[in-house]
Amino acid sequence: MASVQDETKCPQCRARALVEFNCRTLVEVVICFCCGYNARTAPTRRKTKTSKYVLRRTVHAGCGAYRLTAKNGIAQMAVFHTPLTRATIAQFKRDTLRESLQFDTTACYLSRWNPRRRQVVMVVGIFPKEFLWDETGSAEDSAHPAEDKPEVS
Ligand SMILES: [Zn+2]
Repeated sequence: MASVQDETKCPQCRARALVEFNCRTLVEVVICFCCGYNARTAPTRRKTKTSKYVLRRTVHAGCGAYRLTAKNGIAQMAVFHTPLTRATIAQFKRDTLRESLQFDTTACYLSRWNPRRRQVVMVVGIFPKEFLWDETGSAEDSAHPAEDKPEVS
């Protein structure tokens, strides 16, 4: 076992984000499955006066995320690096509804990051409360509205 997983506060939307550190490669990855933020820090070979390696950090704001949850509880999660299109949203809706016997549609969601308003918008499904850092969900410190309504499109 070469990696350690923990959670951290997403620097973009302040939800619970996954952080994984690989002890062998020294690569750290932070992924937020609410807004899609993701960052990778890795040592890269570059000779400096004090070291042979420097840490290089690559950050993507992300464009949203999704979770597909099967009825047996196994979930698939991913983030979007490109803006959601109407076709992507329609395909997600069709797939989850068509396969409603296979998926727990109450635990599936599709979100979009709105960089102008700096807010997560739920496109399909409801915001997963387990991602709130503060379980009381203080609205002042959250980019997530207390009552998330799916966006009509
Ligand atoms: Zn986030």
